[in-house]
Amino acid sequence: MTRFIAPGATLGVMGGGQLGRMFAHAAQQMGYATAVLDEDVVSPAGLIAHEQIRASYTGPSGLAQLARVSAAITTEFENVPAEALAWLAQHRPVAPAAAAVAICQDRAAEKAHFVHSHVPCAPHLLIEREADLERVEAALLPGILKTNRLGYDGKGQIRVTTRDELAEAYSALERVPCLLEKMLPLSREISVIVARSAQGDIVHFPVQQNLHRDGILAVTRVPAPDVPEATQARAVQAARQIVAAFDYVGVLCVEFFVLADGALVANEMAPRPHNSGHYSIDACDVSQFDLQVRAMTGAPLVMPRLHSPCVMLNLLGDLWPADGAPDWAGVLALPGVHLHLYGKAEARRGRKMGHLTVTAATAAAADRTARDAAELLGLAPW
Ligand code: ADP
Ligand code: MG
Repeated sequence: MTRFIAPGATLGVMGGGQLGRMFAHAAQQMGYATAVLDEDVVSPAGLIAHEQIRASYTGPSGLAQLARVSAAITTEFENVPAEALAWLAQHRPVAPAAAAVAICQDRAAEKAHFVHSHVPCAPHLLIEREADLERVEAALLPGILKTNRLGYDGKGQIRVTTRDELAEAYSALERVPCLLEKMLPLSREISVIVARSAQGDIVHFPVQQNLHRDGILAVTRVPAPDVPEATQARAVQAARQIVAAFDYVGVLCVEFFVLADGALVANEMAPRPHNSGHYSIDACDVSQFDLQVRAMTGAPLVMPRLHSPCVMLNLLGDLWPADGAPDWAGVLALPGVHLHLYGKAEARRGRKMGHLTVTAATAAAADRTARDAAELLGLAPW
């Protein structure tokens, strides 16, 4: 794992979504070839990779082909079967490792890892069967019932106030294993992206302040405008503890809540670059995808530097008029606008079609321009 894989080699990625696409862009810029495993005929990463292997993540033939063509392999997709990564790791260096990805896929294991890392998280209880509902203490309500696995963008979770609502929600989630979390008084949501090398070096991006709408990330601002320096420093320290505590290799994002009383609580983590880090392509001297490439190839990691304050806006399918496209020309007339579209043909409600990062000399200027862009696009202001 520590042997350096030089440019010219082929890097493989599990998953053909936008994260795979931006990974492939970064790899290609550094002179690597790229291979994508995704069964979709057309995928954002498959469109731009040197090679797309059109097969499932689980079938042996696709995995064997990916291992054959790749010098090292990563994932862009959190719910890639851990067994598939474990199989690949018998043949090629894989970062992050299957064991770490498996923890991030399981909310209960994830919370246990936060505790093991000495980082606070929300009070919670794993509900694996009907009888566990009896064990719920009054202090856990009101709460949020979340499926233990496979939740994303607010999907697979229901807010509950009473025990009756909890029982109903558990039925509505088809009695799959769920985690009940106490509802916390959130003041802000932030995230920290870290990268760790096989040698154990850790670097991090500045704290991102995130605004979600309907469970989906809408706006990210860096530097975080409303979070005290001391809280930001604690979040960075916590993310470093979390990534070090399981010998992780690769890019990891930790989402935190800042509570009304200023306390910091870890919410969840993703074993890959994250939507809240897309700004790093345009506003930092090294992006989260550059660091993903460096970590998996055994290249040195360097501390990223934010060279411009920025605002990132997610572009969901909702913005597309029925008969055309948003006013890109209008948006591109604004200074410091970096438009990223992922090559998805069909704009559906809630679908991540692209993002837009506004960079400027000052945070105030970036915010002003981002508001102008939002108005042109029909995005609600923040
Ligand atoms: P997902 O995997 O869908 O992103 P999260 O656990 O991040 O799931 O929850 C989605 C959103 O729901 C969070 O960004 C936050 O706004 C809200 N939320 C989640 N857990 C809590 C909690 N314990 N207390 C208050 N709000 C929460
Ligand atoms: Mg989340």
